[in-house]
Amino acid sequence: MATPPGARGTAQKTTTHPQVLTGAKLVLPTGTVTDGRLTIDGTKIAAEAPQGTAEVVNLNGWLLPGFVDIHNHGGGGASFSGTADDIETAIRTHRAHGTTTLVASTVTDDMDILVRQAGLLSEFAEQGDLAGIHFEGPFISPCRKGAHSEALLRDPDPAEVRKLVDAARGWAKMVTLATELPGGLDSVRLLVELGVIAAVGHTDATYEQTAQAVDAGATVATHLFNAMPVLGHRSPGPIAALLEDERVTVELINDGTHLHPAALELAFRHAGADRVAFITDAMGAAGVGDGRYLVGPLEVEVSEGVARLVEGGSIAGSTLTLDRAFKRAVTIDRLPVADTVAALSANPARLLGLYDTVGSLEPGKDADLVLLDENFDLKGVMRKGTWVVDPQLG
Ligand SMILES: [Zn+2]
Repeated sequence: MATPPGARGTAQKTTTHPQVLTGAKLVLPTGTVTDGRLTIDGTKIAAEAPQGTAEVVNLNGWLLPGFVDIHNHGGGGASFSGTADDIETAIRTHRAHGTTTLVASTVTDDMDILVRQAGLLSEFAEQGDLAGIHFEGPFISPCRKGAHSEALLRDPDPAEVRKLVDAARGWAKMVTLATELPGGLDSVRLLVELGVIAAVGHTDATYEQTAQAVDAGATVATHLFNAMPVLGHRSPGPIAALLEDERVTVELINDGTHLHPAALELAFRHAGADRVAFITDAMGAAGVGDGRYLVGPLEVEVSEGVARLVEGGSIAGSTLTLDRAFKRAVTIDRLPVADTVAALSANPARLLGLYDTVGSLEPGKDADLVLLDENFDLKGVMRKGTWVVDPQLG
């Protein structure tokens, strides 16, 4: 077993007595408070510090809840399909960019390999370093395979879906599947029964087929727009069905490559700020740079921050981190800060059933924080009361 990511790596400072963070703009569920005070006691946000016992820490900029990423394949040169050391590197990389709650995504592979990987990832979830596992593939459409190995794709057989969920030992959070394939709707119903999110994605479904999947219990659109038929005026396809239904949260990859800004705006306006989750869909190059990487069994070339399959040139995940997604959303897409915070923290936390512990700056919740400067660049990250990136150390 690898050393838990929290035990080494970036600068750390363990809080032994309450801290009061002051001077920054606090983005709360009720609105933004200028020059607010946030009390941290141990691993939690506290209502107020016992008198005279707190250390006062002066900060500037914006203080937000830690980011929650529900779709992420790796970073720091490493992948969640790799070894324990790789998994640790990927967690540490994204944590240093503000992602304090992270669901690890697998890609299509041999069932036996996925079962083994689910076991390994579940160990990291058990020790509190991952919030769970998202299986992307192998139950997806060969027509919309993206960066998944076609030879390993299969129809969504409920018995096999159950096998993967079981292998995750209670930590399976989401399965992306093409619900129009044989066994698709039965698999959605099974996932609902097992308490696992059924996500529609890498799909060639029609509008009607997608609406059926939502009626069967699917609640997430896996990277809306990407790896699905385009929105047509006579054949609106999955995009319209997923956008219009209030039961569905839509994932968006806000990296400037996966979506045109107008498509992002269209989705955001139509779904409303409560139904959008910004994700990274990151692969190994996130937090590192250009070069050759593996996504599952497939080779990927990253050039100028864009990851493409060596064979065929399909986009193969992103090199995004959620701090960059935040900055892009507020500076280029001109989204309100509060809506962006909802899409990066509260909405995905609610989706995972974790909103009572993370996803907003409220007393009783985990002290998971992101500090940004006035230009929305990352300056600090706190996870469970410990600075992972210490704003005072720089
Ligand atoms: Zn993905």
